Amino acid sequence: MNTASPTSTTKRKCFWVPTVLFASTGFLALTAVPIYGLMVGYHWYQWLAFALLAALCSLSVTAGNHRLWSHRSYKAHWSLRLFFALFSAAALQNSTLTWSAAHRLHHRHIDDNDRDPYSAMRGFWFSHIDWMMHEYPSSHLDYKNVGDLKRDKIVMWQHNHYIPITLSMNLGIPLALGLLTGDVIGMLLLAGVLRIVVNHHTTFLVNSLAHMWGKRPYKNDISARDNIFLNLLVFGEGYHNYHHAFPADYRNGVGWFAYDPTKWMIKLFSWIGITNDLKTPSAVQIQKAKLSVQFSQAEEKLGGSAHREDWLKLLENEAIQFARALENWKNLQLQRAQCRGDKIAEKWRSLAIQNKVKELEFGLKMQSRRLSRLIKQCQTDSATSS
Ligand SMILES: [Zn+2]
Ligand SMILES: [Zn+2]
Repeated sequence: MNTASPTSTTKRKCFWVPTVLFASTGFLALTAVPIYGLMVGYHWYQWLAFALLAALCSLSVTAGNHRLWSHRSYKAHWSLRLFFALFSAAALQNSTLTWSAAHRLHHRHIDDNDRDPYSAMRGFWFSHIDWMMHEYPSSHLDYKNVGDLKRDKIVMWQHNHYIPITLSMNLGIPLALGLLTGDVIGMLLLAGVLRIVVNHHTTFLVNSLAHMWGKRPYKNDISARDNIFLNLLVFGEGYHNYHHAFPADYRNGVGWFAYDPTKWMIKLFSWIGITNDLKTPSAVQIQKAKLSVQFSQAEEKLGGSAHREDWLKLLENEAIQFARALENWKNLQLQRAQCRGDKIAEKWRSLAIQNKVKELEFGLKMQSRRLSRLIKQCQTDSATSS
């Protein structure tokens, strides 16, 4: 038996359906779309249909396939789930069940070339699109990790009837709009072909570019990165380092002001009862992750500094404060658990605990600021002493 690991030159089985689909839509988007525009021209309402459909499909992938079904970060009314099932099928990225099975493997085995279906460690092309076009050891999905989704009737209906659903969404809607407005070809090219290509490659960039370019403030031992530029194209999914650190959070951009239209939409729907049980980690946990990364960065920067010992003392002091804060946090968690069940005690004590948690959170925020200043000073110190 040949046990040699496959190389980039190894011939692999080609998955023809996605390969032909990506090649043909890409080719038409680069040729027929601009040629028709130059020769016939597009109307504003065709561009509007393109933008609206692209946004609805993208949001159905980010809020539906990703945050609702793959991560169960909130719950949604059946009407919204049905909408997501229809429009994520229109995004033409395989059924929700298959999408989620692969995505859960990606989170579980991130950067493992043999088990992460779109490991960025294999390079841009592989993680962007090639993983869907050729068979790899990581291509195999056994669907054991989506048992919960198999109990969702809408997910299974979409999975079992994927071809007719996706065909009617991708051809039916642009065709109907074209007949209504009197230019079928123009509508098919913009709201059909170009929209599919945009939906494909913006999602694919999260698997490729968001694992290569950007910052890692919450977890620095994985390839996933926060990228604010890419984030503008992908409805909030560009905060990918945060997302890999806290995958069960319904938000990817943490602060309410952080550009994350998917999060805003989920929150808006919760106000009218369409979504509920929106999950978020505690702010202390988020600060803890951030500070752990900062400590390791500070230690790295100390290396070449002429005043290494002084910096080290400062850092040790900070580490002691950090450990104390975490101990306090643990105690507060315990106190919270102890007063559960006793209604009167719960009311009064939970208020006191909440205040203490807020204080702790503020302290950690300040510490994070001190550490980023320390890292910068260490850096200039090392630069001047070298
Ligand atoms: Zn990822
Ligand atoms: Zn995810």
